[in-house]
Amino acid sequence: MATPWWLAEEALPLPQVRVDRADVEIVGAGVTGCSCALTLARAGLHVRVHDAREVAGGASGRNGGFALRGGAAAYDKARVWMGAERAREYWQLTEEALERLAGCAGDALRRTGSLRIAADDDERDELRGEYDALREDGFEAEWRDEFAPPLAGRFTAGIFHPGDATLQPALAVGRIAVEAAEAGVEFRERQRVASLDGLEAERVVVATDGYPSGLLGPLEGLIIPTRGQMLATAPIEQRLFECPHYGRHGFDYWQQLENGRILAGGFRDYALDTEFTADEQTTPTIQGALEEFVTGLVGEPVEITHRWAGIFGLVLDFLPVVGQVPGSERVWVAGGYSGHGNVLGFLCGDLVARALTGSRHRLLDAFAPRRLLGS
Ligand SMILES: Cc1cc2nc3c(=O)[nH]c(=O)nc-3n(C[C@H](O)[C@H](O)[C@H](O)COP(=O)(O)OP(=O)(O)OC[C@H]3O[C@@H](n4cnc5c(N)ncnc54)[C@H](O)[C@@H]3O)c2cc1C
Repeated sequence: MATPWWLAEEALPLPQVRVDRADVEIVGAGVTGCSCALTLARAGLHVRVHDAREVAGGASGRNGGFALRGGAAAYDKARVWMGAERAREYWQLTEEALERLAGCAGDALRRTGSLRIAADDDERDELRGEYDALREDGFEAEWRDEFAPPLAGRFTAGIFHPGDATLQPALAVGRIAVEAAEAGVEFRERQRVASLDGLEAERVVVATDGYPSGLLGPLEGLIIPTRGQMLATAPIEQRLFECPHYGRHGFDYWQQLENGRILAGGFRDYALDTEFTADEQTTPTIQGALEEFVTGLVGEPVEITHRWAGIFGLVLDFLPVVGQVPGSERVWVAGGYSGHGNVLGFLCGDLVARALTGSRHRLLDAFAPRRLLGS
C-alpha cells in the first residue's frame, strides 16, 4: 500500500556499466541526476551516478505525474521577481525541455494539456492575471470559465495549458537512465554517499532535491524538505478528467489515468506544521482529506489501493537552486524545484551538465545557490 502507484511497475533493467575513472560523479538518480548524466555522457565525459535507493526511488517516482511548463511561481509573479525578459526566457526554456523530455519518455508521456483551476473569486483574479501575462508574451493558454460536473460549483474558472502533459514519471526517468547507461554512464544503486571525500571525480553534482543528503555544507537545509502525500483509487468506470488538474494554489492536484484510476495529492495546508519533514510516512489527517476530496469528485465511495508520500525541496523564492555550492570549486547542486520538478529537474540537470562542459546558460545567474546565503 505504501508503494507509489508508479513504482509498482517493475523497473526497466539497466545495462551494467563500469567506469574506470569518473570525470563527474552525481549523487541522486532521479530526473535531475539522470538528465545531467545523459548530457555529460553525450559530451564524452565519464560519469558515475550514485543513489541510496534505485533510479527514480525518490520524488521522481512518487509524484503527481504532471509535466508542466514554467516555474513553481505563477508567470505574472515571476515577471515581477525576475524581470520580464528573464521570466520569458525561463518559460521558453521549460517548454523546450518538455519537448525533449517527451522525446526521452516515449509513451510514458502524453500531451493532454493541464488545467489550473480557481476555487474562489480571489484565486480566479490571480489566474486571470497570469493568463493575461502569458498571452501578452505570446504563450499559448486558454481561459475556461464554464465547467461540467464534477468541477461545476467547486471551481469558478481556470487556465488550460495546451502543451502540458501527463507523465508516468518512474518509467520516464527509467528510460532516461537506460539511455544514459547506453551512452556509458555507470549507476551505483542502493549505496548512500556518506561523504564527498569518498568520491574520486574532479566534479560532483548533488541532485537530491528535497532529500537531505548531508553533502551540501552551508546549503544543507535551505532547500527545505517538504512532504507530499498521494493516493490512487481502483479504476473508476466514469471518465471524469482528461488531463492533470490542480487547484487551490496548487495545494490540490489530481488526474485520471487511462486505466480509470484517479491519482490525487496535496492538502498539505491541512497540517502545515507536520509536513515540513523528510519522513516519508503518510498521515491519517492528510490521507483522510484526500479521500474525502476524491469521494466528493466521484460522487460515491471509492476504493483506495495505494497511499504514499515523497519529499520535495521547497525554496522560499520558488526558483530552482542550480550552480556551484558556495565555497567549493568542486561541488555543484541542482534542486529546489518547490514541487514542480518533473520538467524543471530535467532542464536543470541538463543546464548543469552544459555548464560543466563549458556552455553556461545566463539563466543560471537567477538560480545561483549563493542567494540562499544572502550573498
Ligand atoms: C507527492 C509529490 C508530488 C509531486 N508532484 C509533482 C508533479 O506532479 N509535477 C512536478 O513537476 N513535480 C512534482 N513533484 C516534485 C518532483 O517530484 C521533484 O521535484 C523531482 O522529482 C525532483 O527530482 P530530483 O531528481 O531532483 O530528486 P529525487 O527524484 O527526489 O531524487 C533524489 C535522490 O537522491 C537520493 N539521495 C539523497 N541523498 C543521497 C545520498 N547522500 N547518497 C545517495 N543518494 C542520495 C535519494 O535516494 C533520491 O533517489 C512532486 C513531489 C512529490 C513528493
